[in-house]
Amino acid sequence: MKIDILAGGSSGNAIAIKSGDAAILIDCGIAKTKIEKRLLEVGIKPNEIKAILITHAHSDHVKGLPIANKYKIPVFAAENEWKSIKGVDEELRWSFSSGNDFNVEDFFIESFKTHHDAFDPVGYAITDYESNEKVSICLDTGKVDEAMMKVMEHSTYYIIESNHEPNMVEVSDYPNSVKARILSHIGHLSNEQTSKALSGLVDHHTKKIYLTHLSSKNNMPALAEMTVKRELSKYGLICDLNYKLEVIS
Ligand SMILES: [Zn+2]
Ligand SMILES: [Zn+2]
Repeated sequence: MKIDILAGGSSGNAIAIKSGDAAILIDCGIAKTKIEKRLLEVGIKPNEIKAILITHAHSDHVKGLPIANKYKIPVFAAENEWKSIKGVDEELRWSFSSGNDFNVEDFFIESFKTHHDAFDPVGYAITDYESNEKVSICLDTGKVDEAMMKVMEHSTYYIIESNHEPNMVEVSDYPNSVKARILSHIGHLSNEQTSKALSGLVDHHTKKIYLTHLSSKNNMPALAEMTVKRELSKYGLICDLNYKLEVIS
C-alpha cells in the first residue's frame, strides 16, 4: 500500500491510496487541475483511480469533484451526504449506509460515522487485500467515540486530523459563533483529542501516523507533533522506534 497526501488543511484535502495498478482517492478538496498535477507528481494516472470516497460535502473535501466526470470515476458517499454534493454525473453516484462496508477492486472499505456539522459525515478504514495493510482516515470530527475506535483499531497507518489548540482558538479573531463551532462536538479535533485517540489505537501493527487538517491560524505543526509524541510516550511508544510521524502542513 502506498499513501500520498495530495493536500491537507482547511484549504483542501485529498488523499491517494495505491495498491498494484489500482488507486482510490479519499476526498477531492482541491481544484481539478491541481489534483491532476499532484497525481502526476506522485506517479498516479487519473485512469488508475477506481473510486473517489467522500468523507463529507464541505468544499475543502469536494471542490475538485469535477475530475470524476472527466475520467468517469465512481464517487462513493454516505446516503444522506449526497443531499449536498452537486455536479457528479448520475451514473457515477454510489451511496452506502454510514457504518457499512463495501469493496472496490482489491480494497476492503469500512466506513464509520463521524461527528461533524454535515448531513452524513464518515471516516474510512481501508484494507488492501494484496499487502493486508490497513489505513484509517479520520478527518473532520468533533470527537472520537468507541465505535470509531473499534473500526480503526489495528491499522498500519493512521491519517487523522489534529486541527487546533483550544487556547489559540479562544484568543483568535474568529467570531464567537465560529469559535463555538470549531470547539463543539460536531467541529474539529484538538491536538489533545487526537493524541488521546491515538494512544488508544497505536500498537505493534502501526507503521506511521499522519497528522493532517491543521488549522493555519489556530495550530502549529510543532505543537501538534509534540502533543502526540508526549501522549504516546506515556504508553512507552517512542517516535521513530515504535511508529513514524509526519505532520502535513
Ligand atoms: Zn468539514
Ligand atoms: Zn475540512
